[in-house]
Amino acid sequence: MNSDFVDLRSDTVTKPTPEMREAMAEAEVGDDVYGDDPTVNKLQEKAAEMLGKQAALFVPSGTMGNLIAILTHCARGEEVIVGDKSHIYVNEAGGMAALGGVYPHPVPNQTDGTLRLEDIRASIQPDDSHRTITRLVCVENTQNMCGGVVLSVDYTQQVAQLAKENNLKFHIDGARIFNAAAALDVDIKELVAPADSVMFCLSKGLASPVGSMLAGTEAFIAKALRLRKMLGGGMRQAGVIAAAGLVSLEKMTGRLKQDHARARNLYEALKQVPRLRLEAEPSSNMVYFRLDDSVKLTESQVVAEMKKYGVLVDWSAPRQFRLVTHYWVDDAGVEKTAKAFADVLSEESAG
Ligand SMILES: *Cc1c(COP(=O)(O)O)cnc(C)c1O
Repeated sequence: MNSDFVDLRSDTVTKPTPEMREAMAEAEVGDDVYGDDPTVNKLQEKAAEMLGKQAALFVPSGTMGNLIAILTHCARGEEVIVGDKSHIYVNEAGGMAALGGVYPHPVPNQTDGTLRLEDIRASIQPDDSHRTITRLVCVENTQNMCGGVVLSVDYTQQVAQLAKENNLKFHIDGARIFNAAAALDVDIKELVAPADSVMFCLSKGLASPVGSMLAGTEAFIAKALRLRKMLGGGMRQAGVIAAAGLVSLEKMTGRLKQDHARARNLYEALKQVPRLRLEAEPSSNMVYFRLDDSVKLTESQVVAEMKKYGVLVDWSAPRQFRLVTHYWVDDAGVEKTAKAFADVLSEESAG
């Protein structure tokens, strides 16, 4: 079922586990647009319960989940404060503006992934007919482009407090929020309690083939349901994929620390490889590093050479790589990866 490749390009590459495939084959299903799919209903109830929110909605992707959240909170012409390195701002094809007429207001992400509270405060528009209306603030946890760094419960509460004082809604793009909770060793409820809404992905480190969850109040989810339909995200016998999502919640959330430990081992092993410049120690399941200036291979050439050694990697910016550990990367895979980098770079200096 799985090839011999060690695939560190992302945790989105995770194929379903054997237990998921079995659950999918046996899933009880119905038409979810009628609300008739018992497996989807169970997944939504379970997700809401784990997050400590009133309700949750199964959506086809994280991008759709974030978009629905923004369109649920904001009207056309209203403004959202987002990180300038956030997935919402950079990697969602401008959906909020293109489809919702919602205006993003980017604020710099600090190296620890946070938006400075004073920057958020300064970005809130005054009540003035020349200005847009600021309606929402979004943070991302873990913050992917800042290295998979983790935002604390304390910080999340501070953002929520600031939002509340200014009559803003607060959404967490928590694509990998279970990784954040594992890294902090806190119950996920605590981490998301301050937010009005939260999205997380089943399809990343939790190993489901498809799907994300959006959670919030019952009123929020009722509005979100209509938007999901409008965006074409209403699915029929979706229990087939929701069954995998239940396995994600029940079996996969508890093991993410293993991925974090392997990311640390990978970081330590790559530190020993000459001419790789490791960045900050990993906070969750991502290892970022750069190629030393003396490396003549381009990023794409390194990718191609690594593939010959059975290791799939990807570069994230010029000279920069991001490796992501997940369920299908074991200790042997970590070793194999470090050895392959050492061989590729030493061949280059020999040649
Ligand atoms: C992957 C990701 C998303 C979007 O999820 P898709 O399912 O790929 O659409 C949103 N936010 C962050 C931080 C992500 O990493």
